[in-house]
Amino acid sequence: MADFVGAVDQGTTSTRFMVFDHDGAEVGRHQLEHEQVMPQAGWVEHNPLEIWERTQTVIGSTLSHLNLQASDLSALGITNQRETTIVWNKRTGRPLHNAIVWQDTRTDRIARALDQSGKGDVIRERAGIPPAAYFSAGKVQWILDNVDGARAAAESGDAIFGTIDTWLLWNLTGGAEGGVHVTDVTNASRTMLMDLRTLDWDDELLGFFGIPRSMLPTIRPSSDPDFYGQTLAHGPLGGEVPLAGDLGDQQAATVGQVCFAPGEGKNTYGTGNFMLLNTGTEIVRSPSGLLTTLCYQFGNDKPVYALEGSIAVTGSAVQWLRDQLGIISGAADIERLAKQVDDTGGMYFVPAFSGLFAPYWRPDARGAIVGMSRFNTNAHLARATLEAICYQTRDVSDAMTKDSGVELEVLKVDGGVTANNLCMQLQSDILGVPVSRPVVAETTALGAAYAAGLATGFWSGTDELRANWQESQRWSPTWTDQQRTDGYVGWRKAVERTLDWVD
Ligand code: ADP
Repeated sequence: MADFVGAVDQGTTSTRFMVFDHDGAEVGRHQLEHEQVMPQAGWVEHNPLEIWERTQTVIGSTLSHLNLQASDLSALGITNQRETTIVWNKRTGRPLHNAIVWQDTRTDRIARALDQSGKGDVIRERAGIPPAAYFSAGKVQWILDNVDGARAAAESGDAIFGTIDTWLLWNLTGGAEGGVHVTDVTNASRTMLMDLRTLDWDDELLGFFGIPRSMLPTIRPSSDPDFYGQTLAHGPLGGEVPLAGDLGDQQAATVGQVCFAPGEGKNTYGTGNFMLLNTGTEIVRSPSGLLTTLCYQFGNDKPVYALEGSIAVTGSAVQWLRDQLGIISGAADIERLAKQVDDTGGMYFVPAFSGLFAPYWRPDARGAIVGMSRFNTNAHLARATLEAICYQTRDVSDAMTKDSGVELEVLKVDGGVTANNLCMQLQSDILGVPVSRPVVAETTALGAAYAAGLATGFWSGTDELRANWQESQRWSPTWTDQQRTDGYVGWRKAVERTLDWVD
């Protein structure tokens, strides 16, 4: 009898493998970073072969460290950085190009042209998301248009497309020797190619990007009792384990935070920030700049939808202070530096490095630091960086309340930045509601494990998962209403200054 479930969490900066027990408690993990390839301004790539190698290493080392075998795992779940796009040759297993990462802005022009031709509204209506460089389809088009022989290989059926979940599932099930070519509804909903209602690829949308249908994976539920496939005896697990859960990272975190009822949501603070609100089996459209996306689909149940507010730069602004400005030596140092002052001294930092995502969707925005006087120091900038993370969240949270009609009562949080107590306190102050962090902060991997374990019957249903959720810490608002209002007015003024910066 298997006592555990495993999950691969393939993130933007690193790949981790985690093992959970029946209580949803972490048993062990191993994590490895991979290279961020930046060939020119605005371009971000990953090497898919490096990611596959890292995945095998972290699985193997975790299992050997814990002294576990494949037979100890009831199921394996995958969760992944979303939208990041790989096209590879299915006969050789070789990628035709590096993976084009979600943050990469090289396809801005493709997105803008779609809006100018009126096709953007078809994408909004059918796929629930606006045309943007962020999503996969433009990245696939770019590879087909720019890599020698890519289009011919796609048309002959040799070149296939996948997001990172698809790439890993294909490799884990045998790669060129018969690997499965599948994705789940959540990942598919980030491509601009799937119809939200039918959960199938849409021929008209495929036509907009010139993408042959034969390149695309089969779309499956996020938790699949029929399993996507089994791992191989000669693979990194050394035996057969059902591959039964697949969710994009933000949807996985929503599942890990047990947001199973309409009106329940979470906010994840990583490289960027992503707030998702479960809207049930209804598709809720957003006039306020949020995305309509799949939240999850468990087995044959009806799909569950979500509203999402995606923010491009939050934790990565902290990295910028570390790597580009050198005013901190590690991410955790920002808290100490920011605590040297009681406020930002009137300073605002809008880290619109790659434009602004939700709720603005302005690729023409660029970063700005405003409101400075001679008095300001590094400490004020550190504090303004933390506030920027929180104000961007406030923008998204306000839009969510407006579109869903659901008032936020408490914000469930997770992700790397939530280690920062000051930032979480500021978040509560800026929103005016309590902020709550669970004991298991690795909600992304946990959600993928939950999806996989539900499929194999390791967990009996969502009630059992709910019972696993426990709060570890809660922050409550301390600012007056006046402070909150004044602070936010200043933020909106600062955001205005960043718009219309580039063509
Ligand atoms: P991802 O899954 O997107 O790679 P993580 O959830 O691992 O992200 O979080 C990493 C991010 O969190 C990094 O951008 C880092 O700068 C930020 N971070 C980590 N620790 C802290 C901290 N103590 N204070 C502020 N930011 C932090």
